[in-house]
Amino acid sequence: MRTLLVALPIALSLLIGSCASPSRDDVRVEGRVEVRAPDASTPPPLDAFVPPDEDAGTVEPSLAITAPLEGASFVRDSVEAGFWVARVRVDVETTAIATIALFVGTTELARAPASVGGFDHLADTDGELRLTVVGFDEAGLERARDVATVTITPPADTGCRAMLDALGLDWAPASPTRGIVDPVRVQPVIGGVRYRYVSNDEPTAMTMDCELAPRLHHLSRIVSRYGVDEIIHIGIYNYRCIGGGDPDSGTCTPSMHAQARAIDIWGLGLQDSDVEYVLERDWIITPGDTCPGSPSTDADRVLHEVGCAMWSERAFQIVLTPNYNAAHRNHFHVDMTPGSMFIEYSVAGVDPPVPGLGHTDVDGHTHDFGDDEHEHGHAHE
Ligand SMILES: [Zn+2]
Repeated sequence: MRTLLVALPIALSLLIGSCASPSRDDVRVEGRVEVRAPDASTPPPLDAFVPPDEDAGTVEPSLAITAPLEGASFVRDSVEAGFWVARVRVDVETTAIATIALFVGTTELARAPASVGGFDHLADTDGELRLTVVGFDEAGLERARDVATVTITPPADTGCRAMLDALGLDWAPASPTRGIVDPVRVQPVIGGVRYRYVSNDEPTAMTMDCELAPRLHHLSRIVSRYGVDEIIHIGIYNYRCIGGGDPDSGTCTPSMHAQARAIDIWGLGLQDSDVEYVLERDWIITPGDTCPGSPSTDADRVLHEVGCAMWSERAFQIVLTPNYNAAHRNHFHVDMTPGSMFIEYSVAGVDPPVPGLGHTDVDGHTHDFGDDEHEHGHAHE
């Protein structure tokens, strides 16, 4: 789970649950749910409620869920990070409560000062959803709780194309294209961000697999946090193997570009400015972990944070950076390889000098993504 705090007096909790949905189980990882580490203020288990002390003369602590109403029903008709979710606003009224925590089942999803007044919960799993809000005093002792059970139902149309409409994308079906399961033509302003091929002056429409488009929408939201309104790319669809070769030859591994389920990102353009953050120039290769890395310039910091967010927020399953190898010195390769969560962690060398960098993996190993299907060597993806 990611917890997002928004400007409203509401703490926003986003749950992308660990339960798989049929179309996306390849990318569902339990790490979606982020549960705070236990500490001294961890509440007792949900079945071990401790009644509050009855101190005469003090205000009785209380907590009531005022929304949603018990038994309410919510449709998963919003799109979040490529998933259909239901937005469930949980409003709470409290008296003499310092902190409130939202539980789904027995899992704590978010905790906030009682003054925020509630949570926005994004549910992506159909069926009964039991929401519990627990109130704590200043000492971290539970003083009150309330429960509301609601029902989550699927949208009328769970298809990818309906998702593009829900995201407000300007798109049209594309003609059958070799390698692409569901080809669509998407206009190049996605979530307020322009997608421009590096050698073009203006953005142009892009052919892609339908399922890539919601990922790009998520990418747009990530870069927007940094005042970026342009993604400068060097390609989505390219019917070829990793490192080159004909996918039909049977002698090489088709790239995700052959399915138009990948994009190579060359740089980022800043809003109201001619400034561009360009991987080849501004990404400084350093030894050690890619995320968070140790960026020393604003440009490098933004590139690192965007690269790491694409991965940690699961906008994409594979994120290859200039740290990966020389073939990626000038771009992020990001794709939707099923079952993968991968970002290169280390590189043998520092920047500069660039020549030869990345050809030498620290261990000389290839990377096993866990299902033995995706061994990445050191060729362009
Ligand atoms: Zn690529």
